[in-house]
This record gives sequence, structure tokens and C-alpha cells, in this order.
Amino acid sequence: MSEDKRTELETIGEFGLIDALTKGFKKKNDSTIFGIGDDAAVINRDDKNVTLVSTDFLIEGIHFNLMYTPLKHLGYKSVVVNLSDIYAMNGRPEQITVSIAVSNRFPKEALEELYDGIKTACDIYNIDLIGGDTTSSLSGLVISVTALGTAKKEDVVYRSGAKENDLLVVTGDLGAAYMGLQVLEREKSVYKANPDIQPDLDGFDYLLERQLKPEARKDVIQFLKDLDVKPTSMIDVSDGLASEIFHLCKGSDLGAQIYDEKLPIDTKVSMTAIDFNIDPATCILNGGEDYELLFSVAQEDFDKIKGNPHMSIIGHFTSKDAGVYMIDKQGAAIKLKAQGWDSFRGE
Ligand SMILES: [Mg+2]
Repeated sequence: MSEDKRTELETIGEFGLIDALTKGFKKKNDSTIFGIGDDAAVINRDDKNVTLVSTDFLIEGIHFNLMYTPLKHLGYKSVVVNLSDIYAMNGRPEQITVSIAVSNRFPKEALEELYDGIKTACDIYNIDLIGGDTTSSLSGLVISVTALGTAKKEDVVYRSGAKENDLLVVTGDLGAAYMGLQVLEREKSVYKANPDIQPDLDGFDYLLERQLKPEARKDVIQFLKDLDVKPTSMIDVSDGLASEIFHLCKGSDLGAQIYDEKLPIDTKVSMTAIDFNIDPATCILNGGEDYELLFSVAQEDFDKIKGNPHMSIIGHFTSKDAGVYMIDKQGAAIKLKAQGWDSFRGE
């Protein structure tokens, strides 16, 4: 490190940092099929199959706030967000390792609650907990989960496989997890100002569940198999739709056009957003943590996907030169910006 050069992390962002730190690493082993730059790494297992590996940190005060996050939910979510990355490769997760760093402010019982949530996720998604590390932390709780999965070689879906005119499809609905977080943050502020006031969370069940106890779209991977559709590219929606569209465009060297009126949003989410003075489209595009799947399919597969209640066709890929745009309800083209969660951007 030279003495006079200092690059602030917020100026390059999470992905700029990853690029800077990893660019000097060259592949040395034939078993490494694909390393950094997709939802999971792909490793050769045998002639027909690969192993998929994905890892994530959850840090107290950055990714979760224990004032309103039950530990059991946190354990559950920490597993699910990793499984989501394995599904995003069109794979099947089978094992996890869980490592935690914890301060002495947590009693054994609190950590048992966390692991109760981890176990529930393992039971529901049919996953084996196979290892991890436990260590101390000076302040907050740190959780790191690594998920391992498997897929047939020919089934793996990368971010790089999309072609111009492929249809962009997203599962479920978007923005609820973000609005759930806004509701929890509002009630936290109210409580801090006056601890005698009880939190008012009535009627926000769906939003809160999407934020506190999300699910990974295991079912969608099966639906796609049943429909005999192999996506041409895929990613999970962890950072917000706009950011994920940019990842697919970058991976496949394309542009994209999506339509505001096609974006799937729950009525409760749009109503709450308007109450909070937030544009519902912003929740969808920049909210994040929905853990839905965004994928593309060839035009020939349109008939297999159309009308499917779990999937919305939101647009299509264009040439790279055409850029990344959203057509709003008035027909105007708005240039999209990838304002997803970025660990180093001041919120
Ligand atoms: Mg992902």
C-alpha cells in the first residue's frame, strides 16, 4: 500500500471492491468451473454433476437489528438467504455450515433460539448442517452461512446466458420486505421517543413476514422443471430488482427494457408505500431482500410461462447499446440506476 493513496470504499462500492481484491487470482484447478461473479461458485463433482457453493455474512447493526428481529427468525433467514443463491443457479441445496461470532451479552438460551430457527429452515428445505465455527466477538452478533448444493451440469443457469429479446421474468411479488423494514423502523423510532407507546404492527403481517422470515423459491425451480423450461440466465432478488437486472445485463453483455405496469406488487405494499410517501416502484426497484428469482427465457418458451400465477413477465433483454430502461405508465422511458443495497454506501 502506498502512503499517499487512499480510496474510500464508498467511492467504489461492494462490487468495485470485490473486483479490486480478486482480480489478481488466477484459476489453478480444473475442478473450478466458475468462481467469483455469480450467485454461487460451480465446482466439478463428477462427469454429470457439479457442486454449488455460496456464502453470506449477516452482521448485527448492518443486516439486522435485534430490537425487532426475533433470534429464531434471524436463524431461519440466515439459512434461507443462502439457499436462495443455490436455487438461483437452478441447483438443489443440500448442506450448510454455520459460523457465529458472539459477545458474552448473549446467554446460551438466546443462541439456542437462533439455532432453533436454523434447524427449522434445515427441516423445511431438507438441508444438513455439517459444520462451522463458534468464536467470540467484542460487540455484536455475526453469522456466516455457507450453502452447498448440487446440479446436473447441463442444468446450471448462469447470469451470462441470456440473449437479446429473451423475456425477463420475476417470481412472486416485490417490495414487501423493504416496506416491512420501513414499518419496523418507524415503530422503533416511536418506541425510542416514548417507550410507553406499544408498537402498532397490526395489519402489516405480510410485510413483516417478508422482512423477518423470507422464503427461498425452491418451488419455482420445480415449476420450471415441470414446465420443461430452462432459464437462459437467473439471479435471486436480494439487493433490489434494478441491481439484479444490471447484474444479468452485465453478465450477458446486454441491455434491458422493463415495464412499470408489469412489475408485481402486493396491494398492501403499494398502499403502505404511499402512506410512507415512498414511490411503490422504488420499493420494487431498490428495496431488496425479496428473495424472489429473476430469470430470462427464450421467446419460444413464452406460452409455457404466460399466465403462470407465480411468474410475471416484466420485459425483455435488448442490445447492450440500447441501455437499461423502465417504461413508465405514461409510456416514458426512464433510465434505470442500480441503487441496491451496497454495504459501503452511507444509508
Ligand atoms: Mg444472489
